[in-house]
Amino acid sequence: MAKFERRSWAEPFKIKTVEPLTMTSREQRERYIKEAGYNTFLLRSRDVYIDLLTDSGTNAMSDNQWAGMMLGDEAYAGSENFYHLEKMVQEYYGYKYLVPTHQGRGAENLISHILIKPGMYVPGNMYFTTTRLHQELAGGTFVDVIIDEAHDAENTHPFKGNVDLNKFESLIKKVGADKIAYITIGATVNMAGGQPISMENMKAVHELASKNKIKVVMDATRAMENAFFIKKREKGYEKKSIQDILKELCSYSDAATMSGKKDLLVNIGGFLALNDFEVFEEARNMVVVYEGLHTYGGLAGRDMEAMARGIEEACHLDHLQARIGQVEYVGNRLLELGIPIVKPIGGHAIFLDAKQFYPHLEQTKFPAQTLAAELYLDSGIRAMERGIVSAGRNKETGDHYYPKLELVRLTFPRRVYTQAHCDVTVESVYEVFQNREKVKGLKMIYEPKYLRFFQARFEPL
Ligand SMILES: *Cc1c(COP(=O)(O)O)cnc(C)c1O
Repeated sequence: MAKFERRSWAEPFKIKTVEPLTMTSREQRERYIKEAGYNTFLLRSRDVYIDLLTDSGTNAMSDNQWAGMMLGDEAYAGSENFYHLEKMVQEYYGYKYLVPTHQGRGAENLISHILIKPGMYVPGNMYFTTTRLHQELAGGTFVDVIIDEAHDAENTHPFKGNVDLNKFESLIKKVGADKIAYITIGATVNMAGGQPISMENMKAVHELASKNKIKVVMDATRAMENAFFIKKREKGYEKKSIQDILKELCSYSDAATMSGKKDLLVNIGGFLALNDFEVFEEARNMVVVYEGLHTYGGLAGRDMEAMARGIEEACHLDHLQARIGQVEYVGNRLLELGIPIVKPIGGHAIFLDAKQFYPHLEQTKFPAQTLAAELYLDSGIRAMERGIVSAGRNKETGDHYYPKLELVRLTFPRRVYTQAHCDVTVESVYEVFQNREKVKGLKMIYEPKYLRFFQARFEPL
């Protein structure tokens, strides 16, 4: 027997319940993707083998969370599970007040309505689709103030989620602090490839914002993963616990919107957390209109319980190491094979660089959309476009936004797939890469008005 070169690493859990997967043939997949208008969002999940569309709500809950589901206190008002969730949010994130919402965008809707008046600006470290749309629907204009490195897929800056303080300051000078509703800080930045913001930068943003009486609203959806990167990459944090890092990170913000469907290991749920009592009062009033009473916000008691328990589990170092380690494993294997991906490897996903993958396709031929379809055809793996289709149109000119990054996201649900699934994924990407020159791109034949990437339909050119 050959000696092992290194000690193996394995998932820090064992499997108690299994969900069988469907295996399909190439012929079947050709039919399914055509029926789906070459949009992976429109495929039926039963026709998908390895589902890397998103890590949103696709996590595997633990036995402890499932046990908590049985303790759901399904009262209309004042559910025990609400108080448990409130306590956990205070303890781990450090905010004073909690308004539960059905998911992240419910919280974005509330905060955008409360703090944005028509004509105001909302800077942010790159946009997120639903966040920006809520800001725009409230009459605000989003302004990207992320560092330039974030728009360069090749740049290996360790904190590509950082805010360019000069960009933020010039905006304040240009429009006036009173025209800035708040600054949104994504931690980590999903659209930049799951890239973290550093503690140092977060602190500096908070200082500059406070000096100008501008509120900082954190998109804390992936803040635990951000805390992990700070521990691994930022000087002075190596020995601190994830919990302490998370709390410090949040302390540099006034409020947070949260999608529990990511970090918090649940299938549904979210919240708005706040420190300012007046804003909380308004949110508590408004949540009744859009979500439900302020002690359930569109969630069942059992969902709040699962999320409360998820907060504790998500903060475990072993869990974060395995979760981010899995993504890193796939990324490193792809890099070894010479596949163009966004660097450094982010927290929740691998982003294939479709512009480099298909240099012969112009952006209007939707290279990333094409690549996602090709991957499905090859192996039944479902990925997501994050390029020109996701970017949408400029509401004034009606033209596409042309994002610098034209990416396909392979997103890893937490605790769902094994290393063998990861190997199959790597091999499939490699196969599609080998055949890249034969591909001709797509034409959009149906375009919805909002968040078009969800429902747009395409045809091969
Ligand atoms: C998913 C996500 C949201 C939106 O949350 P939903 O629960 O899908 O409504 C907001 N911000 C980030 C960074 C996200 O990843």
